[in-house]
Amino acid sequence: MHLQYSTYRLLFRHPFGVSSNTRHETETIFVKLVLNGLAGYGEACLPQYLGGDVTQLCAFLDKAGKLLANHKFKSLADTLNELAALEEGNHAAKAALDIALHDLYSKQTGLPVHELLNAQPPPTTYTAHTIALDNIEKLEQKLIEASDFSILKIKAGTGDDKKLIRNIRKLTYKPLYVDVNQGWKDRHQVIDMIGWMREQNVVLVEQPMPVQMLDEMAWVKEKSALPIIADESARTIDDLRKIKGAFNGINLKLMKCGGLKAAKELITEARLQGMKIMLGCMAESSCGVAAMSKLLSCADFVDLDAPLLYRNDPFSGLNYSGGRIIPASGPGLGVSPAENLFS
Ligand code: MG
Repeated sequence: MHLQYSTYRLLFRHPFGVSSNTRHETETIFVKLVLNGLAGYGEACLPQYLGGDVTQLCAFLDKAGKLLANHKFKSLADTLNELAALEEGNHAAKAALDIALHDLYSKQTGLPVHELLNAQPPPTTYTAHTIALDNIEKLEQKLIEASDFSILKIKAGTGDDKKLIRNIRKLTYKPLYVDVNQGWKDRHQVIDMIGWMREQNVVLVEQPMPVQMLDEMAWVKEKSALPIIADESARTIDDLRKIKGAFNGINLKLMKCGGLKAAKELITEARLQGMKIMLGCMAESSCGVAAMSKLLSCADFVDLDAPLLYRNDPFSGLNYSGGRIIPASGPGLGVSPAENLFS
């Protein structure tokens, strides 16, 4: 099996602001695995809070490339286990390889990716559309552009989130997912905010408090008027055990957990704990999001609009219509790269 990879800058249509920073572009690494004339594709991206950098990621891919070059491809599970054992961590790089292997193995066998994951066929599903932080004029423009979408997700943690939501409510009364990105610190204020937000047609609140404030989160969850979804607090299956009782659900992302196989394991564990599942993504292209869309049958909430945020997504095949994500039909992920992506 031959591994190739290529670094790429995804350019945002609008500057993407969250409580801690604003980005104009984001670096992504695409991988291509070739076996018997068929290719599988995957993607890794590196949000700051996950740690690691491009050099480290590429070093892991080089190591993986050597392993795969001499690898006797017996089963998908064997290959994934060998890659997992190569080194601790490196979840984004492992996610890229896991995505590419599912794509490739599905193409080799003709089995749809959701079947490889023991999931039901992915339905066409409404997705939230993320409105990043901005001034009121730009917010208005973004809301016009989001007119197809029936659910909006906003990035809060601004210092004056009531003002932010009041501004949005001057323009639309669509249901909101509010992502605080760890921005609130006082548990009593958190409860007040959540109560107020419920009156504003907010449906759920994501990661209101910092990861370290787990006891406060458990206190908040008991009193919260809205479901609380863990994002930064829930990366891997070990985290899920740690946060038991402190959240109502988890926002699952392939870059955090290390790929589709791990994501499915997290879903199973989360369900055992009675938790809701949100399918989310980092700043990923259609490649990573097409992979996650194969698990749409498992989702309670969907936040998979990232490919719509760029002006140079190099993959095609994943479509959106009327505010819904339409999973590409197989085999594989159902997406193809631009011709020159790996040249
Ligand atoms: Mg989040």
